[in-house]
Amino acid sequence: MNHDKPPNYNQLNFSGGPGALPAEVLSQIQQAILEVPGTRLSVLGISHRSDWFASVVQELEENVRLLLGIDQRFHVLMLQGGATQQFSMVPMTLLRGKAQAADYLHTGYWSAKPIAEARREGAVRVAWSGQASGFHHLPDDHELALSEDASYLHYVSNETVEGLQFQRLLGHDHVPRVCDMSSDFLSRPIDAAQFSIIYAHAQKNIGPAGVTMVLLRDDVLARGQYDLPDFLNYRTQIASHSNFNTPPVFAIYVTLLVSRWLRDRIGGLAKMEALNRAKANRLYQMVDASNGFYRGRARPSDRSLMNVVFQLPTADLEAEFLADADAAGFSGLGGHRAIGGIRASIYNAVTLQAVDRLCEFMADFQGRH
Ligand code: PMP
Repeated sequence: MNHDKPPNYNQLNFSGGPGALPAEVLSQIQQAILEVPGTRLSVLGISHRSDWFASVVQELEENVRLLLGIDQRFHVLMLQGGATQQFSMVPMTLLRGKAQAADYLHTGYWSAKPIAEARREGAVRVAWSGQASGFHHLPDDHELALSEDASYLHYVSNETVEGLQFQRLLGHDHVPRVCDMSSDFLSRPIDAAQFSIIYAHAQKNIGPAGVTMVLLRDDVLARGQYDLPDFLNYRTQIASHSNFNTPPVFAIYVTLLVSRWLRDRIGGLAKMEALNRAKANRLYQMVDASNGFYRGRARPSDRSLMNVVFQLPTADLEAEFLADADAAGFSGLGGHRAIGGIRASIYNAVTLQAVDRLCEFMADFQGRH
């Protein structure tokens, strides 16, 4: 490794989230704290009722529509409360008062939480659980007995903690699909029209913490619950253009900058996926070629392109790995507290060069042990 110049810590940030942001966007934010181009004001002091902010919301919405190829049947919302609030808003809207149970998949740490929240609202059927097998793999089609008449199907496209990612669409076409894409949203193209609700907080692939994108197909709303607190009612949020109460102006602005970066610098989601795949391949190859020194956690066919989770032969070696990595300028590599081990999160803004640096470090560490 080249020790001549100090590492740029932001560029070696492998955090599980909030994660790395593009260097170019960090510079733009730095400028915007002092003055947003064309406004004479700091981004931290602009009214959410200004024309400027309305144009930010509108352009972000347009960029998301363009990147995902979705049309006007979808509402694009920017909400508060994180993905966690969606764990409740979804069943409040679609399950409360309904006779039919909702199907939920329990594929890891994060998919357990929406199940608990949905149970407050109505009947939930856990259509598959990986708990007994330690969440090392996702279900194959033949293991999934999904109900034909469920109120909806809920699943998590990428399990951030365990590093498991679905590489296919699940469910029956006539059962509304609801998906938590918090850790892989806008990291690859998806067939968004196949979903009724997609939600994803920003702080992994598309921005800072504070804003959660919700894509909601209009027809599903027509069947939903009406009598809800305004703040938790998708209809209120739609009617107010994500501006019902004071929204997180800063977080939404930064997310707009990242959406421009995805559109203009990266050139769209197919290119983003190719880059993300190249990064993940390098790391998994490193793991697979290590003769068992590094041990991948997920079944290879379910490996995540976002969170590369692995272990070392002993807990002591893992602690040494993390300490050495920290000294070399890497950050965020410790596994989630629920399972330990090592997790390299390689969200959109983590560069191929950063991944190469990490691979070099891993080879060097293995060589020394
Ligand atoms: N879903 C997934 C897949 C996550 O990874 C996380 C957090 N890492 C959450 C939901 C919870 O998100 P929030 O903290 O924004 O509520």
